[in-house]
Amino acid sequence: MELIDLHIHGAPWSNGWANYRRSVWQAWRNGLHIAGLSEHGPRFNYLVPFRSLGLAELDKYFHTIEEIRLEFAGEIEVLSGLELDYNQRMVEYYSNLLPRLPLDYVIGAIHSVEDWIPEIPQSYETSALAGKNAEQLYQAYFLKLTEAAQSGLFDFIAHPDLVKKALPHLGMKKPDNLQTLYQETAKMLAACDVGIEINTRGKLLPDVGEFYPHIDFLTECRRAGVHLTIGSDAHQPQNVGLAVEEAFRLAQSLGFAELSVWRKRKRYVSNLSN
Ligand SMILES: [Zn+2]
Ligand SMILES: [Zn+2]
Repeated sequence: MELIDLHIHGAPWSNGWANYRRSVWQAWRNGLHIAGLSEHGPRFNYLVPFRSLGLAELDKYFHTIEEIRLEFAGEIEVLSGLELDYNQRMVEYYSNLLPRLPLDYVIGAIHSVEDWIPEIPQSYETSALAGKNAEQLYQAYFLKLTEAAQSGLFDFIAHPDLVKKALPHLGMKKPDNLQTLYQETAKMLAACDVGIEINTRGKLLPDVGEFYPHIDFLTECRRAGVHLTIGSDAHQPQNVGLAVEEAFRLAQSLGFAELSVWRKRKRYVSNLSN
């Protein structure tokens, strides 16, 4: 069985460019077989205040990955990815840009719905979604996820139910009637040939306390045949590979037979049963 972590950030704007190398070194030390670097790509969205790579930084990013790949050759496989926010206005631009980049895979992410940013609790009150209840927030979030998957830009979707992170801050509980939403979303992902990840980061966050996505959604994804991969979403080297083995065991216990990895935008599978 290959231990993989396809969701690793270096945040060079805060930590310096050497952070990517430190992250891969940590992955190697943790016994991982594949480390996928997947920095936030250019957003072009003034509503989302998180830093990401700018267009002018992409060359340096891919060059850095190539150096690390050569340095660790034969020890750990290093893959080249980007995590990109889905933005309907940018689909055509990204469709032209992505094939020109030396990418193994592209992760689609939903960090905002209109001007609501689930990770910034205070954005709710002034947003277009103010007044919506938990079920409506899930519906809106998963609708955007559906559009992202159908855009054809992405190999897999990051933290598919990030929406849940907002709920405790809004005094809301997770709705208990999400089964249909989960089922329909899983079928849509399978039909689009777009995968998901078990993202272990949620487990470290006190306001989430569990992996993304919820086990019920994972179960529907397994039934529908959605491709699955695993990522720590580490933003610091010490978090690379964190709880990844637990995520492997969860995937096995839910009956997933394989995990997916992507090389040069083509999907490969690694058997989970041995
Ligand atoms: Zn993300
Ligand atoms: Zn991420």
